[in-house]
Amino acid sequence: MASPTLTAMTTDQSPAERVSTVVDGVVVLGALSPSRAGDFMTCPLLYRYRTIDKLPEPPSPDAVRGTVVHKVLEVLFDLPAAQRTPEQARELLVPAWAELLEVAPELAEMFASDPGEGPDLATWMTSCRSVLDRYFTLEDPRLLEPAERELYVETLLESRLLLRGFIDRVDIAPDGAIRVVDYKTGRSPGEMFEGKALFQMKFYALVLWRTRGVLPAMLQLVYLGNGEMVRYVPDEQDLLATERKVEAVWHAIRRAEESGDWRPSPSKLCAWCAHQAICPAYGGTPPPLPVRQPTTAPTG
Ligand code: SF4
Repeated sequence: MASPTLTAMTTDQSPAERVSTVVDGVVVLGALSPSRAGDFMTCPLLYRYRTIDKLPEPPSPDAVRGTVVHKVLEVLFDLPAAQRTPEQARELLVPAWAELLEVAPELAEMFASDPGEGPDLATWMTSCRSVLDRYFTLEDPRLLEPAERELYVETLLESRLLLRGFIDRVDIAPDGAIRVVDYKTGRSPGEMFEGKALFQMKFYALVLWRTRGVLPAMLQLVYLGNGEMVRYVPDEQDLLATERKVEAVWHAIRRAEESGDWRPSPSKLCAWCAHQAICPAYGGTPPPLPVRQPTTAPTG
């Protein structure tokens, strides 16, 4: 099940994350990542705003904490095993934040200069340290040698849909068993939302299975917000069902794209949505769809 070689880079072109990529002479009809598929499953209108309209969303301290902590955990494994300590992880925090600010200086504006007026940087840094400290209650990185970190993966399904994404960490045991690891800086979700996190993990497992020919032995979600670990052992039927689900989502996206019917699907997650003001479920009016640019991408 070796993955074919890409002959051109893909882009985040919308709609349906369609790309004009050719893979080993086969024209790719579209591309999907677990986060974009998750957006559509959560709310088709949210998918539209993020992927087609590409509307900006204000950064949140929680999301940026996730980015910085992921960076620290990635760099931590560059160090010799004996140096992978909580103290060292704390040391890496400030450079990781500084590196992020260099790329996106506007993130500094998330924090109020007067602590009474909003989140302040010192409190946020303390929360980052707590999250990192909690990591060490779940794993001892001195005993781990990850095979991959921040691994970009992709595979082309027979339907010519390209699946792609980034995996936080891949561990490979001496017997070849693969463990897929994802860090979540929030708390472990209730049953209602656990399926969403597992869908993402099964998506990655499917891509690895298709590209390496080995069914991952373990999917592991590390919740740093409350120090819980969720482990799941996938089987072939699971991953085949995930493949069918991903295909179904992609077809639903394409139908929405053809009909222009991007319905809102209100849920508890609306509380975190940056687009309530232009959501019909909250009395708003969506902006006109962007004019589609001429493209060489196939439409079928
Ligand atoms: S507010 Fe809720 S229903 Fe509206 S776009 Fe956002 S997620 Fe969808």
